[in-house]
Amino acid sequence: MTQVRTRFAPSPTGFMHLGGVRTALYNYLFAKKMGGKFILRIEDTDQERIVPGAVDVIYNTLRECGLNWDEGPDIGGGYGPYVQSERKSLYLPYAKELVEKGAAYYCFCTKEELAERKAAAEAKGEVFKYDKHCLRLTKEEIQAKLDAGVPYVIRLNCPTEGESSYDDEVFGHISFPNSDLDDMVLIKQDGMPTYNFANVIDDHLMGITHVMRGMEYLSSTPKYNNLYRAFGWEIPTYVHLTTVMRDKEHKLSKRDGDAYYSDFIDKGYLKDALINYLALVGWNPGTDQEFFTMDELVRAFDVKRLNTSPGIFDVTKLDWMNSQYVAKMDFDKYLEMATPWFDQVLAGKGMDYRRLAELMQSRTDIFSRIPEKIAFLADMPDYDTAIFFNKKQKSDEAVAREVLPMLLPVLEGIDDWTETAIHDAVMAKIPEWGKKNGAVLWPMRIAISGMESTPGGAFEIAYLLGKEETLRRMKASIAKLG
Ligand code: GLU
Repeated sequence: MTQVRTRFAPSPTGFMHLGGVRTALYNYLFAKKMGGKFILRIEDTDQERIVPGAVDVIYNTLRECGLNWDEGPDIGGGYGPYVQSERKSLYLPYAKELVEKGAAYYCFCTKEELAERKAAAEAKGEVFKYDKHCLRLTKEEIQAKLDAGVPYVIRLNCPTEGESSYDDEVFGHISFPNSDLDDMVLIKQDGMPTYNFANVIDDHLMGITHVMRGMEYLSSTPKYNNLYRAFGWEIPTYVHLTTVMRDKEHKLSKRDGDAYYSDFIDKGYLKDALINYLALVGWNPGTDQEFFTMDELVRAFDVKRLNTSPGIFDVTKLDWMNSQYVAKMDFDKYLEMATPWFDQVLAGKGMDYRRLAELMQSRTDIFSRIPEKIAFLADMPDYDTAIFFNKKQKSDEAVAREVLPMLLPVLEGIDDWTETAIHDAVMAKIPEWGKKNGAVLWPMRIAISGMESTPGGAFEIAYLLGKEETLRRMKASIAKLG
């Protein structure tokens, strides 16, 4: 059996779209599952769309995600070069071969002529397709124009009658009337191939067995197949992938800040969680399993389980999955990743970040939400004293008014401000006062945090704030209660 060869063929036009990462992922998973090769090819024939630095973004993103390619521009392989602009001299001879075979033809129509005919067709309410005008030129006429150096493009001569069909691994039997096919340009006036031509030549020359790409290419595929047939080449297996959507109607969009891989990494999502989740947007394992390492994905992946309905990228689900990954993360790694987010509100305060991280790890869904959760440590919120009320803890404003002034000297008397010392000092007093724990600890925690719910309890927060700040907040709350 021939070895499976898949490819990810991005155009370097900017950041990596999440849909692109998912396409790369599926190509990678399938190649690895089949013991095949995953190839990276940079498609930069459309020079106008190229964004400087975008190739590095592609490399870095794929590498960061663990989608390591077996062949590609930077590492080579037996089928290089892997950048289309470095292959540009290779395409024209293939186009000429098709001209020889009568499957393609020179077209000398100028932009203006085409625009005129397009306008005329549209005036009649017709959709303009190239009208095969230059197909009628004689051999001699063509040669004369070529000799005179008249600029030309080379077009594919598509059939106009009948149907073109193929079987897609995901969408099944696909059929389009040939009357819809436009005689697409293969080679542009500048001698560069179009994407439509280059991708076929490259997929063939690179021995690609499975073409896995977005479903926007479903309708172009009959044209590509005409090319394969004209050359007498074997047609690859097609696996078209549904679009990644925000919801049923909306695509992920740049404007909403949810389109790019980097948008999510910048917001503090973990790449492992993102990859795990992305794998499930458009594919299902056929079991209840939701958490997958890359190796597990490789083992579980099956093209037959790719979905035909659009993949909905549900951020709420992703947040949940991310929180599960964060909770299971190595503690030191968590501390390292959380530190810049702690710094956003606590820089320069000398707070014990290790202790804070211990309290925050299980409460972090995405890292960018850390600052809002710990802001109370930096500045005492202006709270409503009604939150002293808690039935279960036997606390209310009157209780707080009574116990906080009793607590103050106890806290003032602690010299060695550790969590244990604070705990022991306070806990020793509670039975003496004849109180339940909640009736002291609830008011204390509210008094120094101003929040009904906090990471950590009264002792942890007092410890993190330090003695001076704790006492300052205690006094302010006592005054606030009047
Ligand atoms: N260069 C194309 C793109 O970025 C890739 C399409 C394909 O996979 O053939 O959309």
